[in-house]
Amino acid sequence: MIRFFNALGTEALLEILNQSSTATAIYTGSDINIQLANDAMLTIWGKDRSIIGKKFEDALPELKGQPFTQLLKNVWETAETYEAVSTPATLEIDGEMVTSYFDFIYQPIIDNKGEIYCILHTASDVTERERAWKLLHEKEQTEQQTNEELTALNEEILSTNEELSALNKEYTATNGQLDETNKELQQTIIDLNNSNKILEFRNRELKELNETILQLNKKLSDSEISFSNLIDQAPVATLLVKGDDFIITMINASMLELIGKDQSVIGKPLFDELPELKGQLAANMLIETYQKGKSHTDYSNPVLLNRRGSLEKGYFNFTYTPFIENGKVTGVIDMAMEVTPQMIAIEERDKIILEKSDLEETLRKSEQRLQSILETMAEGVGVIDNTGQLIYANPMAQQILGLSESVIKGRTFDDPKWQNLRLDGTPLPAEEHPMAIMMATGKPVFDHEIGVQPPDRERFYISINAAPIFDKEGNLSGGIGTFMDVTTRRMITQGKDDFISIASHELKTPVTALKASLQLLQRSHDKFSSEIRTKLLDQSIKSLDKLSHLLTDLLDTTRIEQGQLKLVKRPLIIAELFEDCRSSVIQNTAQQIIFEGDTSQTLEADHQQIGQVMVNFITNAIKYAPESDKIIIKADRVSDHEIKISVIDHGLGIPQEKVQHLFERYYRTNYHGQKFTGLGLGLYISAEIIKNHGGKIGVDTELNVGSTFWFTLPLTSE
Ligand code: ADP
Repeated sequence: MIRFFNALGTEALLEILNQSSTATAIYTGSDINIQLANDAMLTIWGKDRSIIGKKFEDALPELKGQPFTQLLKNVWETAETYEAVSTPATLEIDGEMVTSYFDFIYQPIIDNKGEIYCILHTASDVTERERAWKLLHEKEQTEQQTNEELTALNEEILSTNEELSALNKEYTATNGQLDETNKELQQTIIDLNNSNKILEFRNRELKELNETILQLNKKLSDSEISFSNLIDQAPVATLLVKGDDFIITMINASMLELIGKDQSVIGKPLFDELPELKGQLAANMLIETYQKGKSHTDYSNPVLLNRRGSLEKGYFNFTYTPFIENGKVTGVIDMAMEVTPQMIAIEERDKIILEKSDLEETLRKSEQRLQSILETMAEGVGVIDNTGQLIYANPMAQQILGLSESVIKGRTFDDPKWQNLRLDGTPLPAEEHPMAIMMATGKPVFDHEIGVQPPDRERFYISINAAPIFDKEGNLSGGIGTFMDVTTRRMITQGKDDFISIASHELKTPVTALKASLQLLQRSHDKFSSEIRTKLLDQSIKSLDKLSHLLTDLLDTTRIEQGQLKLVKRPLIIAELFEDCRSSVIQNTAQQIIFEGDTSQTLEADHQQIGQVMVNFITNAIKYAPESDKIIIKADRVSDHEIKISVIDHGLGIPQEKVQHLFERYYRTNYHGQKFTGLGLGLYISAEIIKNHGGKIGVDTELNVGSTFWFTLPLTSE
């Protein structure tokens, strides 16, 4: 400061500056201390001299937030002049914040050492200039804006003009259309006139309709009376209930009788009068009809009603119809018909049907049982109707008769194609058939045996039990026959009968011959020459041989039956066997007996028994194939362990169906033919002997070609 004053001559300089019209201030230091501010500057600032010596920012606190303090500090720092024009500064002047514009310079003052020692601040208030310029500028702007607006207006006018001309065109067109519309309008007016006429006509109609409705209304009130009459006279029990309480409004006599009440119920709620109805299906349906306005019909509906002093169940067919007044459901018409007797009858019927079906079930079961018995029975069962027609045959009947059910049903018991026979073989007359006897007498027949000769099969025998069947009225409606095949039984019996007669005959022949020879010898012994006596004795011995042969067969049969046929086995050479046979049969026949084959083999066998088999085969061939000039006896070794001996003849052969019986006891192919004699035991005994030896026996035969009877025996192992 001292340096400053010294340099400029302090007072004089201050005075100069003070009086300067240019606002001036001087600052020093980096914190910008106001060293000097002349009056012009103080006026700008709105301050007095008290601010001299203060820091710039303290003296002018309102400048906070404005750039000046910082600008001054920058100048102090940089020592570069700062100059600005038209810069706004807001200062507090007379207690008011006033913004003014300034041109100003912050000029650093440099000493001769090149150091800054103060900042000279000069400023001039250019607020007026600025305002004038602003006004000018604003005016310019307004003008420019006006110009722009004018241009825009012009453009608008232009486009409005264009629109106007377009509108003009439209207007012209619209005028044309208007003409058209006018014409249409005229037409419409004509139409309207017409419509008016129609309307008038409709009005008249409406009026008439009104009158009709009036008449109908009148009729309606009349009909209410007739409705009441209708209900009264309805043949069906009828009831009209109305309102939410189902007030009994109209009820006819039939309905009163049906519910067991009198006229006093009228005007009272239905469910008060018939409380037992509550909750029952019929009641629920009635309520629903009322609520939903839909009719309900039900048949055979069970209803519990308190009639005649107790709650009883009745069945009713009924219809509930909604009662409609002014389009609203106001009640329900109930028409009912009691069907209790019918329902009881139906229940009764159903019960009977149920019982019947139970009975039928029982019947079906017992039928099933009967059926299975019939099907598994060991006896044949046949049922005939009253004409003798077979209507049923069980499986066994079909088996015995060898016919299918369909064929059986097609025949009568006395089918002429099937020859029924008496036991003696003579034809059985139709009336002697056990079924016919039963049908004729109406009485059962037991164990009646008959023979049946089918056209294409062997005769068989059946034993029949026949029983009549009577219908409910006691009339004979058919019969049932049970029968069984007794062919085997009959054959055995017949075989025995035949055997006795044959055996007697067979025995009688040699005995008679023996007796005759011996009587002759007794009576005329002396008269006969020795040759005749020898001949008679030979004959006697032959007869005895035959007798002994027959007795041996009988004895052997008995032994076989009792299991007493004993074997005495010893080695036996076939050649030896053949030789024995040759000597025992050869003298009895004219036929040629040929022995051939491998006779060197040795057997382990009962010599006598095997010899008996061979002799039987050979004598049979001689006896039953007399036309065969040769009889061949052959030995064949069939394997290392077995030999087969065959007796071959060229006789008539044996029918195939008889072959299976040949080795049976007493069996003879021709019982009644007297041509051949024999007991039917030879082959039976032979079969037993071979079986005992562990061999096989059989016959190969062909009609008119001959028969080969054979047996096999095991060879002695060497
Ligand atoms: P029989 O003592 O009656 O001869 P068999 O048992 O020896 O009894 O024979 C039974 C039957 O076999 C005979 O009745 C006969 O009809 C038949 N038969 C046996 N051998 C022959 C044969 N070679 N040719 C035809 N039939 C035979």
